[in-house]
Amino acid sequence: MLPISVGEDIGEMMHHNAPRCTITLHKAPFMSSNLYIPKICKHCGNAFTARTTVTKYCGDTCAKKAYKARKRKDKIQATLDADMKQKNEVVEVHNPNAVNNKDFLSVTEASQLIGVSRWTIQRMIQQGRLKAVPFGRKRIVARWQIENLFN
Ligand SMILES: [Zn+2]
Repeated sequence: MLPISVGEDIGEMMHHNAPRCTITLHKAPFMSSNLYIPKICKHCGNAFTARTTVTKYCGDTCAKKAYKARKRKDKIQATLDADMKQKNEVVEVHNPNAVNNKDFLSVTEASQLIGVSRWTIQRMIQQGRLKAVPFGRKRIVARWQIENLFN
């Protein structure tokens, strides 16, 4: 009975010791080093002693709070970015200068540019005061012609 019992004990010990050994080896560089680094918590500003060079916070609570604060900041920034983007798009769509930046205008755009009705432009084309070039189904008026009216 004795050899069997001893053998069982050794087996048990080895079985239990093996994983513990592995853990110790893995944690050795962090836990068993005698690092005591005086640091200031990045969240609450309290002084604390860090055991690793990468520790930024005095404890889990601060680490979690800082993480949440960072997330919140990211979210606010994302919202701001989205707002800015939306604003820019609106400006583009309602840009009152859109017509002013074109060199060639449709009859409608030409009428918008000088603030008259389309029919006024049509009449001016018929009278020969504006030269319109057929462009597909539309007629295009060169912008300089409209500016010439005022010279
Ligand atoms: Zn802290």
